[in-house]
Amino acid sequence: MSAADQLAEGEIGVWAAPGRVNLIGEHLDYVGGPAMPIAIDLATTVKARRRSDGRVRVWSAISEGSVEFGADTAPGDVKGWGRYVAGAVWSLAESGRTTGGADLVISSDVPLGAGLSSSAALECGVGVALAGIEGWEVDPIEMALLCQRAENAYAGAPTGSMDQLASMCGSEGHALLIETASTPPEVKPVPAHWVEDGFALLVVDTRAKHSHAGGEYGKRRAQTEELATLLGLESLAAAPPDAVLKVEDPELKARLRHVITETQRVRSATRALAARDWAQLGQLMTASHVSLRDDYAVSAPELDLTVEAALEHGALGARMTGGGFGGSAIALVEAARVDAVSTAVTEAFTRIDFTPPRTFVVAPSQGAHRIS
Ligand code: ADP
Ligand code: MG
Repeated sequence: MSAADQLAEGEIGVWAAPGRVNLIGEHLDYVGGPAMPIAIDLATTVKARRRSDGRVRVWSAISEGSVEFGADTAPGDVKGWGRYVAGAVWSLAESGRTTGGADLVISSDVPLGAGLSSSAALECGVGVALAGIEGWEVDPIEMALLCQRAENAYAGAPTGSMDQLASMCGSEGHALLIETASTPPEVKPVPAHWVEDGFALLVVDTRAKHSHAGGEYGKRRAQTEELATLLGLESLAAAPPDAVLKVEDPELKARLRHVITETQRVRSATRALAARDWAQLGQLMTASHVSLRDDYAVSAPELDLTVEAALEHGALGARMTGGGFGGSAIALVEAARVDAVSTAVTEAFTRIDFTPPRTFVVAPSQGAHRIS
């Protein structure tokens, strides 16, 4: 009997949690800065049924067999993909919400490891499914922070809170202005009208693999902590523009310059979004990419090539999205030019023997919710 058939026998519910694309404000969610992501129309679904024996058993379409662990799991118990699920179970238990047990069946149309936060979609999907079957009321921002803890302390990826906040708080037709300076973070939906105005947000999954659990992401975090200490600041995003003059080391100076200019770009992008000034938003996106490539040094050849080819073929702006070192880039494009830009990017990849990318259009979508 298949996993899905087994679940059909008992009392079940189905929940979905989306992936995300960040429009602008990259690598700022761990320095107290702003970010402006959207939840996308690709999601992870979790079919869930209660158990009463304190065990959690989980199946995923990506893998044969199931992963099983106790509701009292702790970091280190579960390795591989199951650690994102066990992390959510553990983090909820740490907050006083220990599940009595659950069977969970996972499937997803968020591409894995593409910088579109399939990990956050999985954690948040599991989080809302467990809350659903147990009858726990959990505020979306609190759930996002619990899932971030799962990612950091159980799955071992030192990421900020943006991904889980986007997956939990997404709103159809809106971008989310996230302010991580306050505790808890603030999330404000901002109307995003580019579709009505004839534009599209094109995603290019470069298929270059990124890994946040790897060293570079952690290295950037450590550098921002060093900078905050050096400047006597609690949150680096609050650094005034002239703070760069106080930093001698050229690498640290460049990292700080990204934090300062990217924070300013989010403020300008918020105004551009409100004014429906797509040319301006596009320019800010491209400037963000240049800053991430040159000052923060988190881009990859595939991302740079995507941005270059998209701009050459009429995109208003383009940038890497997410943590970088591979993953996906986005381009703001006239709807009528989506095919031309996709083709141009694909051709540019093929010309130099990069694996052909996957391209698709995404729209701002609803956050984690129950489907049935
Ligand atoms: P991203 O979040 O950008 O997709 P990550 O490396 O952070 O990339 O997370 C990808 C990992 O999350 C996968 O390698 C896998 O371990 C886990 N994962 C995500 N979605 C699923 C899924 N549907 N089923 C099983 N594991 C998943
Ligand atoms: Mg991830």
